[in-house]
Amino acid sequence: MGKSFEDIKLEDAFAFIENNVDAVVLIDSEADTYKTLVKNNPLFSMIDETGNYGDLVQKLWFHLGKNQETVSEDYQVFIPTFGKFTGKYNKRLKLVKNETTHIVEATIYPYDDRLYILILNELDNSEYMRDFLTSEKITTIQNTYLFSMYIDLFRDSTSSISITEISDDTMHGELKYSEWRMMIVNMIWPDDQQMFLERTDPQYLKKNLMPGRTSSFDCLMQNLEGKYIWVKLTFSRAETNNSEEDFRYVFMVQDIHENSVQLMSTLKKYEELASKDALTDVFNHGRIETEIYNAIEIVGRTDRKVSMMMFDIDFFKSVNDKFGHAVGDMTLKHFAYMIKDYFKKSNVVLGRWGGEEFVAVCYDADIEKVTAYAEEIREKVSCEEFKIAGAVTVSTGLTEIKKEDSFSAAFDRMDKALYKAKNEGRNRVESLN
Ligand code: GH3
Ligand code: MG
Ligand code: MG
Repeated sequence: MGKSFEDIKLEDAFAFIENNVDAVVLIDSEADTYKTLVKNNPLFSMIDETGNYGDLVQKLWFHLGKNQETVSEDYQVFIPTFGKFTGKYNKRLKLVKNETTHIVEATIYPYDDRLYILILNELDNSEYMRDFLTSEKITTIQNTYLFSMYIDLFRDSTSSISITEISDDTMHGELKYSEWRMMIVNMIWPDDQQMFLERTDPQYLKKNLMPGRTSSFDCLMQNLEGKYIWVKLTFSRAETNNSEEDFRYVFMVQDIHENSVQLMSTLKKYEELASKDALTDVFNHGRIETEIYNAIEIVGRTDRKVSMMMFDIDFFKSVNDKFGHAVGDMTLKHFAYMIKDYFKKSNVVLGRWGGEEFVAVCYDADIEKVTAYAEEIREKVSCEEFKIAGAVTVSTGLTEIKKEDSFSAAFDRMDKALYKAKNEGRNRVESLN
């Protein structure tokens, strides 16, 4: 049973603390070792009886999830060395263990020049959150905010780097801005590194960012687990009286991954809508034209073979005349579907050039191969029973794109081949090289 207020002495208080503190560790900063004096909370299972102090700091500083015992190497730069403590020091850390976040308070008491006592206590999460939410730190960007720092380009310095994912207060580095830039660039997705270097270049920032202005760009960057995520990097230049020489900035990284991924998939849907022909669901004129330019560029630059063909339905006007426009439409849909289905396993891009004309751009296919394709399609179409319209035939002109081809040179050959197929009786395949 507990003693009464009057009876409790200092030794009772210390005995109570000994039983209730989560962990007490004695550190030898010179030998870089530690030994555990008290361990009451299983949360601190990563603290051994004795061990290397540097390793312990790392473990405490970062998440302790199952698969992320270590931090992506480039981030090691952010691990501060605890160095010398001249007085009591206190820090709150976020510790993730078995996918649960724990808030831990670490207090250091310097014992003498080389020895420190480290006291660890897990804080009540709800108490902590209340405390945290009422603090002025809460802003709209809190959820997505990864870290920030101050940059002084005049002194080439950085300071107050805070990594909210890990700890909500700041740490003070002695990192030069120029060095920091070259370290961070390794965390950026290779294709984005060029842009990163341009936009973080001191000359660029001085020239393009006026006092009080903010500039940002998006790129892919490694997170603490080494996975690439979309982030927004923002520079904000301080408003100062002495704007001629004062080049001070706040730099901030925000996690915008989820939004970006969603936005990109929406844009992809719009792009698809904008490039499709509404009636037949193959690509539209604009999109297939772009594809031909693309194919010409590829042939000019590489050794790949690309051929293309144009289909024109024979006597299509008479389908309309005999059965009406609606049946004509239905026939066009049916025809487009047949070709699309035929090419579904090949590297072929199909589009409606207009009316009853379709173009297929066939990658990695020479003239023999596309001739075989076209012959097979001609055969299939001529055997097909179209609803109401009955029998329909198609004429096809084809050509292989040559290295020196311009758009019109390649297109004209294909067009002439089609004209030839029509002239020589229709329901035919003709090629021109
Ligand atoms: P040819 O064998 O020489 O190609 O004869 P054709 O009748 O197919 O050629 P022509 O170019 O004279 O006629 C094409 C017809 O296609 C004219 C037009 O009525 C019809 N057409 C064009 N676009 C559409 C469409 O979207 N729907 C329908 N139903 N008909 C269309
Ligand atoms: Mg036509
Ligand atoms: Mg026609």
